[in-house]
Amino acid sequence: MTWTANPAVTSTANPALTSSANPTLTTAAGLPPLQVLPARLGAPRAGWTRQADVVVIGSGVAGLTAALRVRAQLPASRVLLVTKALLDMGSTRWAQGGIAAALAAEDSPDDHLRDTLVAGVGLCDPAAVRVLVTDGPARVRELATLGAEFDRTPAGELSLTREGGHLRDRIVHAGGDATGLEVERALIAALRADASVEVIEHALVLDLLVDADGRAAGTTLHVLGEGTRDGVGAVLARAVILATGGMGQIYASTTNPSVSTGDGVALALRAGAVVTDLEFVQFHPTALKIPGVLAAGQQPLVSEAMRGEGAVLVDAAGERVMPGVHPLADLAPRDVVAKQMSRLMAAQGVDHLYLDARHLGSELILRRFPTITAQCRSHGIDPVTQPIPVAPAAHYASGGIRTDTWGRTSVPGLYACGEVACTGVHGANRLASNSLLEGLVFAARIADHLAGGLPSPGAPVEAVVDRGSAGLADPAQRAELARVMTEGAGVLRAAPSLLATAKELVDVGNVRLTGATVAAGPEAWEMTNLRTVATALVAAAAARTETRGSHWREDFADADDAWRGHLLVRMDPDGLLGVTFAPVPPDGVTPPTGSGAASAGSVTAPAGSVTAPAGGGAAVADRGPAPAGSRAAVADHVGSGRARAEEGTFS
Ligand SMILES: Cc1cc2nc3c(=O)[nH]c(=O)nc-3n(C[C@H](O)[C@H](O)[C@H](O)COP(=O)(O)OP(=O)(O)OC[C@H]3O[C@@H](n4cnc5c(N)ncnc54)[C@H](O)[C@@H]3O)c2cc1C
Repeated sequence: MTWTANPAVTSTANPALTSSANPTLTTAAGLPPLQVLPARLGAPRAGWTRQADVVVIGSGVAGLTAALRVRAQLPASRVLLVTKALLDMGSTRWAQGGIAAALAAEDSPDDHLRDTLVAGVGLCDPAAVRVLVTDGPARVRELATLGAEFDRTPAGELSLTREGGHLRDRIVHAGGDATGLEVERALIAALRADASVEVIEHALVLDLLVDADGRAAGTTLHVLGEGTRDGVGAVLARAVILATGGMGQIYASTTNPSVSTGDGVALALRAGAVVTDLEFVQFHPTALKIPGVLAAGQQPLVSEAMRGEGAVLVDAAGERVMPGVHPLADLAPRDVVAKQMSRLMAAQGVDHLYLDARHLGSELILRRFPTITAQCRSHGIDPVTQPIPVAPAAHYASGGIRTDTWGRTSVPGLYACGEVACTGVHGANRLASNSLLEGLVFAARIADHLAGGLPSPGAPVEAVVDRGSAGLADPAQRAELARVMTEGAGVLRAAPSLLATAKELVDVGNVRLTGATVAAGPEAWEMTNLRTVATALVAAAAARTETRGSHWREDFADADDAWRGHLLVRMDPDGLLGVTFAPVPPDGVTPPTGSGAASAGSVTAPAGSVTAPAGGGAAVADRGPAPAGSRAAVADHVGSGRARAEEGTFS
């Protein structure tokens, strides 16, 4: 079966994506031609079929909220929620700090909006942020009504705290530093109370099914276990909601759990959807790093709150790391700290530094940080008597599947919410504790939109295709992929490292080179998704020749007004990635960089991002066209002032 072009995506022109102000990025001299990525995941023929009105994929804050709200809005609807592992195994349960919402009398959505725009360094979509901050307080109150037990003041009011980048106390929290766990518990309890939501755990979604007109009509998926739903099957649904979370596992060290393999973004790329802002990955500076053990996968987070209490970063000789680097020293913005640590680690040839909290005393350490202390002690490190070994780790993906403010992607009938989506609220850097809120707000809006009428797609055009294991990457090379990404496209990036990474990604897991026989299965599907997402991320990171937000280029140290816009990544039906640039108008908050005078023209991009995506689809058209006369791209970098959020972004 051949790929059916998605006419809804390719024929509905979005001026912001197709105007002459958005030239296609071209391949830079010397860069490798872009590898052809699988346009569908190799898998056996679907052996079973389920029907639903709405299928929700993922069971973190976004997926659970979407499922519950669809049921509330459409009581007669059949909702099916599928999730890759157990219900509570996404990032949500690991969230510590809390949820941001303008709930205090002295706070306002306008203040929250401003703080969010400052953190996003010119790339937030103000309309999306407006929705986030306006709908947010009601969604948080509803969560409390649903049963989430947030920390309260003696008077019974929600206890609000402040985090880096917020100029007001607006962080709702639970169990001190266990907010995500409580949110997940409350949502799962509500879901379990509604017997009419069907849940399938251990169900790994593979690819989108589309009808002859390119509308989402369901998904293929693989279910582990016994019974008729075992193996590869198909869910046919009138609407598909992707809530698959982040992609931290593309790096060797991450705070994200093992399920965060970028499956949703990879699926969306294969479905022809627009993906954007992938280059903006937030790294957390202080994940626990066990000396002598190669970091692989999820690492325990050592909260910024410890530095807030006075702990300091030191090297093995006990020398402080941050004084002189930033006025806030150890409390500098998260990405500033991560970058300085990475530079020092490279210079000293070490894989970790230390967070020294010993001077805080055992009483404070044990009272304020019981979880961190327990985690450290379980690895043989006692924060009371020893400095804690730490290293930066991938933490949050600000980019993802581009959606409008109703969660619609550029593929009709396909919705996305939570970390997998790029609603436009984070821009170049996420403000602390805005991500749980984003999941709550935009998942609810998808349900509200569906309440206006469920789509009516036709029959899927390729539900029963047997593709065997064609095109799958070799999962034996997963650690190698993570190493390559960490070394070349991690905290520190420059043209040479990104070029090397692009080249290595062509080979990593490539069975034509390794000669390995790869069986279709969860390991190979995840590896293929990781490689797809990594390739798209590197293409965007190399194209953006400036430093902005969480994207730090060693060779382009400053922000540049000419780059005030989004890099949109699309995959064509042959599996080739294309990158285009869509400028955005000033947000009224982020100051100009003083540059932007560079000439328009094609931009160099790695990994052969050679094809111009066609229109982005009606679903994203409400973002508006590019401003007249704006510079779409630059051929050369022109030095400019900084346009960075100087406040921290902690959570
Ligand atoms: C350590 C840590 C601390 C954090 N602290 C905060 C904080 O204090 N405040 C804040 O706002 N944010 C915080 N964040 C970020 C926040 O937790 C996440 O952005 C948010 O929880 C994402 O929610 P989600 O529903 O989009 O995804 P997740 O909660 O990650 O859920 C994704 C779901 O999709 C499923 N899935 C994935 N792939 C597939 C597939 N192929 N098929 C089927 N199912 C699939 C997963 O199994 C999972 O159920 C933190 C994150 C981490 C890791």
